[in-house]
Amino acid sequence: IVKEKKKSVNCFSKNYLLSKSLGKGAFAEVKLAHNRMTGKPFAVKIINKSHICEHKRLLSNFDVEKSILGRPSIIRIYSIYQEGSFLYIVLDFAKGGELFDRIIEQGHFTENETRIVMLQLLLAVSYLHDRGIVHRDIKPENILLSDYDGLKIQLADFGLSKIVEDQSFMKTLCGTPMYVAPEIIASRGKNEYTNKVDIWSLGVVMYICLYGFPPFSDDLSPPPLNQQISLGLYCFPESNVSIISSDAKKMIKSMLTVDPDQRISAEAALKHSWLRAYKDGELWKI
Ligand code: ADP
Ligand code: MG
Repeated sequence: IVKEKKKSVNCFSKNYLLSKSLGKGAFAEVKLAHNRMTGKPFAVKIINKSHICEHKRLLSNFDVEKSILGRPSIIRIYSIYQEGSFLYIVLDFAKGGELFDRIIEQGHFTENETRIVMLQLLLAVSYLHDRGIVHRDIKPENILLSDYDGLKIQLADFGLSKIVEDQSFMKTLCGTPMYVAPEIIASRGKNEYTNKVDIWSLGVVMYICLYGFPPFSDDLSPPPLNQQISLGLYCFPESNVSIISSDAKKMIKSMLTVDPDQRISAEAALKHSWLRAYKDGELWKI
């Protein structure tokens, strides 16, 4: 009996009631679920175990996740269940959905809104970098909003990408590399990169926030996307977007610097004058 009881406690479906789908990635589906005891909503990432390289990796990874508990800008993992051929990873539920959808809805963000987003992202990323962790997959689809209104962000898809590391990396290389740093393209899967790859992606995110479209894209004139990125070919168009300050452009340039050694670090970016230009109290009001 004791054994039976213990089993049921560890059983995902005994503890959570699954409902609608929140999103789909290459190897996982994320669904809304409610704790059967408390009614509290969570997001649950469901991964087919066949996609997981090594079982051992998962455990060490969960330790990494545990060490970042309590960081407000990073989606938190509550527990991991195995049931049948699936893994169920119980996460904070980010009600506001993807930053990407909010940008599309609004066309683009103002500088103040962008500053609020970037400050949180840079704080989260510098926290990770200080601990030797590289996110490697920063893009608006992985930046979630806590609430329907406001700009309180939560970084998703962190660490877990390491579970399906090889496939996810291949996906990045095969799919559109819109957010991928030049040195990743150059290394052709040899994994020769530093945490500066995250800064590049943040530069792309900041550009998209302000302009509403990406700095590098195959829709634009040639050269091909990979070459645009490798050469750092992008521009700041003047038309149809409200004038963007030269300080904001300088911040983007310092992040979209092709040479990773010359590219700004998260710590230095946090001290950039553009980021520091907010008024007291402005930050959490929006
Ligand atoms: P993948 O690793 O397959 O990219 P993600 O973790 O990025 O999976 O999740 C896929 C999508 O599911 C996200 O882009 C987002 O729309 C949604 N999603 C993921 N995690 C959450 C969460 N904690 N709260 C709300 N929605 C989420
Ligand atoms: Mg994702």
